[in-house]
Amino acid sequence: GGRLPRPDKTRVVIVANQKGGVGKTTTTVNLAASLATHGNRVLVVDLDPQGNASTALGIDHHAEVPSIYDVLIDGRPLSDVVQPVSEVEGLFCAPATIDLAGAEIELVSMVARESRLRRAIEAYEQPLDYILIDCPPSLGLLTVNAMVAGAEVLIPIQCEYYALEGLGQLLRNVELVRGHLNPGLHVSTILLTMFDARTRLASQVAEEVRSHFGKEVLRTSIPRSVRISEAPSYGQTVLTYDPGSAGALSYLEAAREIALRGAGVAGFDGQDAHTH
Ligand code: ADP
Ligand code: MG
Repeated sequence: GGRLPRPDKTRVVIVANQKGGVGKTTTTVNLAASLATHGNRVLVVDLDPQGNASTALGIDHHAEVPSIYDVLIDGRPLSDVVQPVSEVEGLFCAPATIDLAGAEIELVSMVARESRLRRAIEAYEQPLDYILIDCPPSLGLLTVNAMVAGAEVLIPIQCEYYALEGLGQLLRNVELVRGHLNPGLHVSTILLTMFDARTRLASQVAEEVRSHFGKEVLRTSIPRSVRISEAPSYGQTVLTYDPGSAGALSYLEAAREIALRGAGVAGFDGQDAHTH
């Protein structure tokens, strides 16, 4: 398919929601693959000790592999740990290994503990159009490092009961980080995931999210799809696993919306975002 526009400067997108299982990792890897497939250079930073994004991209992340832990804790350059994703040209991954689980605590006593990822990204010299950061399901120092390292927060919301529960806490954290550490931070994008058009509940949740957030919500929602959930066990994104599937097409469409909106389009600079 055609190319997607490339941003003037690197857009850093933080994929966050402290709730587990809402589609953070799935969204990170499939949006990244969609953008890369259409001519962008994209780095996925796996910031979850589980390493699910690394697995889904077919990246080796056993304990001895140089990883984002070494970057955060030992100050190792990001370029030492970044690996190319073999399935998709222009796509790269900074993997997470299990020792990242300890980083949350190790960071507490470190100098500039909130901005270690930002510094590593600033020192990275390879040209990139996008950096997508897959956050763990918590609001601890790893997620704070992600929120300090970029401007755009993307929140995946699963279309199910209690979808909005806990979002207030996430939005307050965005406000805190914006106020104290990173004035440019804003919620740029809400993506509805695992949408089942046949159920009334999913439609009701989607409507509620749209009336609560408005224009941050992408028009495209991601359908519940077996192909999407199968792909990671083959170390693939759905873009290569089943390119013609509804799941692949929906992520491509979501990526197109994100690319076309740009980072600084009027109304997406956080000034009038509904973040209370
Ligand atoms: P998180 O990173 O927020 O914990 P994941 O992306 O790992 O969430 O998704 C949780 C589970 O739901 C995974 O097993 C994943 O394969 C599955 N999943 C995610 N999105 C979809 C979808 N659109 N359709 C079907 N299954 C999905
Ligand atoms: Mg995850």
